[in-house]
Amino acid sequence: CGIFAYLNFHANKERRYILDVLFNGLRRLEYRGYDSAGIAIDNSSPSSSPLVFRQAGNIESLVNSVNEEITNTDLNLDEVFYFHAGIAHTRWATHGEPAPRNSHPQSSGPGDDFLVVHNGVITNYEVLKETLVRHGFTFESDTDTEVIPKLAKFVFDKANEEGGQTVTFCEVVFEVMRHLEGAYALIFKSWHYPNELIACKLGSPLLLGVKELDQGESNSHVFQDAHFLSKNDHPKEFFLSSDPHALVEHTKKVLVIEDGEVVNLKDGGVSILKFENERGRCNGLSRPASV
Ligand code: GLU
Repeated sequence: CGIFAYLNFHANKERRYILDVLFNGLRRLEYRGYDSAGIAIDNSSPSSSPLVFRQAGNIESLVNSVNEEITNTDLNLDEVFYFHAGIAHTRWATHGEPAPRNSHPQSSGPGDDFLVVHNGVITNYEVLKETLVRHGFTFESDTDTEVIPKLAKFVFDKANEEGGQTVTFCEVVFEVMRHLEGAYALIFKSWHYPNELIACKLGSPLLLGVKELDQGESNSHVFQDAHFLSKNDHPKEFFLSSDPHALVEHTKKVLVIEDGEVVNLKDGGVSILKFENERGRCNGLSRPASV
């Protein structure tokens, strides 16, 4: 029902701050209605399995369970992250009852190699699920969404088995999109690609917000192109959301993502690519943006 993500680049943010940004993002999406919520944040090392929290019920019950976990595991709220990529979700169930295992982020399996938050419905999930089960995947949820991270893992493993060039995160997502039917706004996170997020959409809303931390805020703009997103080393915060309500408190620099576009947040820059179904390749900038 609502998706939200936060990525900081060169920004030195505490874990406490990162959690607050994600929870507040979810609170801004609350008015749309939901039955479950979840988040994934980086562990101390972004190239290890992330920390994933999922709950049926309202945002505050998610917040409480995260706080409990923090107390039980001595997770350090003061830990500072130079880079961080976190994702968050409020769910309005279409497939599978409200329950922690059906909440998002949905996972590729043990180790959480790929995590996905999803708004919408994947109409061909049954056939994808059958294929993935034949390839040895075990499903834990009743959602249509779970095929997405599992497909990403399948594509990633297959590319690595075949050797050759290392597959990029974007190439993995393009290959996944080639198989999906239905409506979606998706955000992907993977510890194989630390400090990077990929989002894409078809039929469900998605917006990108950017805040340059050392340059102050300029006037309000909704940009048609992505020139302002040029890559540089200025500390930045990036936000992805299904709803402008969750962005306005952070920045006025907001880009509306169009159907078939793929947003790649990486190394302090943004690439907006156009998904081309026939080729399924990560090429062709959709709009002027520096890579
Ligand atoms: N179809 C997905 C599910 O039931 C996503 C629902 C949503 O948009 O919240 O888990």
